[in-house]
Amino acid sequence: MRAARSPSARSVVAAGEKARSTPCTADLRLRRVGTPFPRAATSNLMKMRAGPDGVHLFDRLTGWNILIDEARVPSAMWSSAPRQVSIALTNACDLRCSYCYAPKHPAALDTGRVVCWLQELDEHGCHGVGFGGGEPTLHRGLPELCRWASEHTGLALTFTTHAHHFTSRLAADLRGNVHFIRVSMDGVGATYESLRGRRFADFILRLSIVREVAPIGINFVVNARTVRDLDAAVEIAREVRASEFLLLPEQATAGAPGMDASTRELLAAWVETYRGGIPLSVSERGATGLPTCAPLPLETGLRAYAHIDASGLLKRSSFDGAGVPIGPEGFVSALRALEEIGGTS
Ligand code: SF4
Repeated sequence: MRAARSPSARSVVAAGEKARSTPCTADLRLRRVGTPFPRAATSNLMKMRAGPDGVHLFDRLTGWNILIDEARVPSAMWSSAPRQVSIALTNACDLRCSYCYAPKHPAALDTGRVVCWLQELDEHGCHGVGFGGGEPTLHRGLPELCRWASEHTGLALTFTTHAHHFTSRLAADLRGNVHFIRVSMDGVGATYESLRGRRFADFILRLSIVREVAPIGINFVVNARTVRDLDAAVEIAREVRASEFLLLPEQATAGAPGMDASTRELLAAWVETYRGGIPLSVSERGATGLPTCAPLPLETGLRAYAHIDASGLLKRSSFDGAGVPIGPEGFVSALRALEEIGGTS
């Protein structure tokens, strides 16, 4: 048995694997969003999923993960949803980062559809959902979605934000219904301001408001301009009591070339000598050449992760151009279709 604490998944829950037989309907979705159901009585239980690595227990409130790897579970009993799913609520964003990989055409997801998927994901063993975009705070349904999922599912709710729309009002709407927030801080001071086009002092102010809502992590795109700010960024992360520092080596996009070889060397050397108190993590795409651990080595591909874009396409990752539309039959049906197209993982 192995146990670990994961700051990116901080919630409680209950539902294990329940068979889902009734497709969601729009009426059902909207009623559920709009009705003030009481908090689920099971919300303080650990959530369980089964997979090729064993039985995985997860507590969304503390972030604790327990893997019972002595357990051998027949594949027919493995949880059918990915362990984590990211959902781009909207493509809209008011910043213009050159390395942004979010699609630029206007698109946003209907709140009722997302509720339906959250319910299905929860019932099929998913442990956590991360909202993104674009900028998810520009989607009007964000507080409602977080509240509904917190009260009616065992999912850990996280989202990634640039933080510039965080107000006390938004913080109050979200508090208690989000388990972890990832805040993007690519560079500090003048570097940040040149890349993001916003005052760094304003960002720090907003960061303090975000910190009132839930535990936070810092997302940091690493490129030739930001790599020398890593020490200063980690120091700021420490001051705001961030639980995790996520390295995102820049990926090639239409507007950016991706991280060059000399920056990769600088990053590898920095990681090698890192002695900071905040745990580091790195995106799977950017992990090449860095020392990483894989706590669930057999649960890979679509068993581990899938992405829903703002047009309702299910993809293997947010970088993929191709995907499968999620129709009235729901998420799992689309997942099966995606597996068939690209081969199971
Ligand atoms: S803040 Fe994020 S979504 Fe917005 S442009 Fe920058 S990278 Fe893209």
